[in-house]
Amino acid sequence: MVLAELGGSISRVIQRMSNATIINDNVFDECLNEIARALIQADVGIDLIRHMQANIRNIAIFDELCKMLNPGKPSFTPKRGKTSVVIIVNLQGSGKTTSCTKYAHYHQKKGWKPALVCPDTFRAGAFDQLKQNAAKTKIPFYGRSMESDPVKVAVEGVEMFKKENCDLIIVDTSGRHKQQAALFEEMRQVSEATKPDLVIFVMDSSIGQAAFDQAQAFKQSVAVGVVIVTKMDGHAKGGGTLSAVAATKSPIIFIGTREHMDEFEVFDVKPFVSRLLGMGDLSGFIDKIHEVVPMDQQPELAQKLLEGSFTLRIMYEQFQNILKISPFGQVCAMLPGFTDELMPKGREKESQTKIKRHMTMMDSMTNKGNSSPKLMNESRMMLIARGSGHHIREVMELLEEYKRLARVWSKVKSLKIPALSRNMSK
Ligand code: GDP
Repeated sequence: MVLAELGGSISRVIQRMSNATIINDNVFDECLNEIARALIQADVGIDLIRHMQANIRNIAIFDELCKMLNPGKPSFTPKRGKTSVVIIVNLQGSGKTTSCTKYAHYHQKKGWKPALVCPDTFRAGAFDQLKQNAAKTKIPFYGRSMESDPVKVAVEGVEMFKKENCDLIIVDTSGRHKQQAALFEEMRQVSEATKPDLVIFVMDSSIGQAAFDQAQAFKQSVAVGVVIVTKMDGHAKGGGTLSAVAATKSPIIFIGTREHMDEFEVFDVKPFVSRLLGMGDLSGFIDKIHEVVPMDQQPELAQKLLEGSFTLRIMYEQFQNILKISPFGQVCAMLPGFTDELMPKGREKESQTKIKRHMTMMDSMTNKGNSSPKLMNESRMMLIARGSGHHIREVMELLEEYKRLARVWSKVKSLKIPALSRNMSK
């Protein structure tokens, strides 16, 4: 089959696929098979075709998930040095107060001058909690425990911090009332009086698909601009929440990944989907590395990761980096293939010991760059085992680990996930 004929066959299949009303698994498989048949006729090797089919499937899944989670850019983004008022809404328990402080703290670390206002006059606990969080992070706080009018407190706080030239004034609204209608009314009044530049809806990811109705209800009462999704650590409903929230067409800007102040990540669709599919988050990983290793000492790292050529030397360098960065578990989740088998969640100590053991064995390899597992015969393995004081079984385990990671990384390469650091690209 000449090249033009092959091109023609593939275009016909693609044309047919774009005409289909629904592209389900059957239609997709049929098209892949037809492309495979055309390639076989053109004498392309069967292994290559299988590899290509797997890649096309991965890319299609990846792209679809990205599209689903990408409702567009936020309508408003606060600018450092210019005063912005932000109000944060949802029901009590969603992680609102924690997220207010995390959001303020995130900007404070980047040199902003944030401030927190608590107009919740319904629950004394809410006032104390935000006040304590503010004190811990040294962020100015305004609230009045004896005042009963939330609108008054909100306006006073916003006016005061405007005079103090704070550039990010965050108002944490009450998330509870005797009646839901009263809660919405209070929220609407606070919003009307403080004229926020941005309303952030805080969504608890543990509620799964129910997130859609909740987000819709809030969107109908106030002009929700963006979403922060909380509690994305450790439960299966996160994906459901994200799709539900995305369906409301409000972009997600941050996700909370645990309770601590720093366990808060910028939501970036591609790296996030990449992690969802077990492919890690290279840009997040490179950002983390640059926090601990000066950029000029890591000049080739981004390039190597981009190229996806996964050698034993790269594996060794990644082990070195991982051991330097904390929190350990969070960093591992960013690296393709590093969470599941090598470093299961909750067994950080064990995983660190395992990495160190792998590294001692790799120290005994004369040239890690050229030490291809394919060239590793029994006598070389014995040498490494003896040199590092380990058993040959452990050397074999190390090589298996390498092969597994190399397989994962070859998939990452085929997805063309941006590996450039978010900081570097700014
Ligand atoms: P609020 O009532 O909406 O203001 O919610 P809080 O901020 O008080 O949070 C409710 C609970 O959820 C608290 O125990 C928080 O520590 C916890 N929480 C908040 N965000 C996260 C998160 O991202 N992950 C986890 N695991 N817990 C969180």
